[in-house]
Amino acid sequence: MPIAVRTFTTPAEAAAVLSSDRSARFLAGGTLVMRALNEGDVSIGTIVRLDDRALTQVRASGARVTIGAGVTLAQILRERELAFLHAPARLIGGPAVRTMGTVGGNLFAPSPYGDLAVALLALDATVSVMGGYGARDVALEEFLAGRDRFAGSIVLSVSCDRPANPESFRFRKVARVKPKGVSVLSIAASLPAVGGRVSNPRIAYGAMAPTAIRAKAAERALEGRTLDESGVSAAVAAAAEGTSPATDAIASAWYRREVVGVHLRRLLLGRDA
Ligand SMILES: Cc1cc2nc3c(=O)[nH]c(=O)nc-3n(C[C@H](O)[C@H](O)[C@H](O)COP(=O)(O)OP(=O)(O)OC[C@H]3O[C@@H](n4cnc5c(N)ncnc54)[C@H](O)[C@@H]3O)c2cc1C
Repeated sequence: MPIAVRTFTTPAEAAAVLSSDRSARFLAGGTLVMRALNEGDVSIGTIVRLDDRALTQVRASGARVTIGAGVTLAQILRERELAFLHAPARLIGGPAVRTMGTVGGNLFAPSPYGDLAVALLALDATVSVMGGYGARDVALEEFLAGRDRFAGSIVLSVSCDRPANPESFRFRKVARVKPKGVSVLSIAASLPAVGGRVSNPRIAYGAMAPTAIRAKAAERALEGRTLDESGVSAAVAAAAEGTSPATDAIASAWYRREVVGVHLRRLLLGRDA
């Protein structure tokens, strides 16, 4: 079946096609879309491209940083302003995937992919989305929970606050193949502290549900606690609560539930193994 490729210069034009044509698919870096096409995915009839420089820009204003959806993982690694995202970006795929793969594409990547989205969820990021109705900002948590609803929209950018200090934001990816294996699971945690006690933590998991999710039971158990063995024990005990991991070629659902607490404990205690 022939595929139409349509290139637009404004998000509104591209969004109008995406929201009215069910066979239209937005093409960013193409690491997943081109793979689907090459594998013969007949649901794709039209490829929509957007030639807009704003999509590839990173803007910082005070603590707030806005990352264009077309910014690649390799570009993140070159940006000093985005040092807090270097750990997840560096652990996604190999050099070819990082050169082409984008921030926007990562938000739609199916589990167990989506490692950057995990980090952004722990950072309480906001997504700027353009649909047939116009543009609006949505909390990433809401976006991920209803991701299918946004299939006909274009993500323009993602914004978040940079962590106040490097120690307060942590990321861990567990993979069988190093350095570029797919996630058994990933964990990101934003751990602000007041007087040595954790205050308003945000913990996010990848590969523990169909999209990145927050570990709300663990967050509650960590509130007001110290980051030592006794302080993190209740959060570790609650680590698997609310999760619904899949069994896939990488790991079984049972295994993921068994080990998530082990890795959460190591992350909270700042231990490598
Ligand atoms: C070999 C290999 C290894 C990989 N390893 C990892 C890994 O370790 N971790 C990981 O997280 N991912 C991994 N991926 C998945 C993928 O490469 C990344 O998630 C990447 O960030 C996807 O971005 P992309 O720009 O290539 O997406 P594309 O393939 O261009 O698009 C993916 C989906 O997102 C939609 N989309 C993209 N951008 C937008 C936008 N701005 N607005 C609306 N919709 C949009 C597309 O329509 C499509 O449905 C891997 C992929 C491959 C092929």
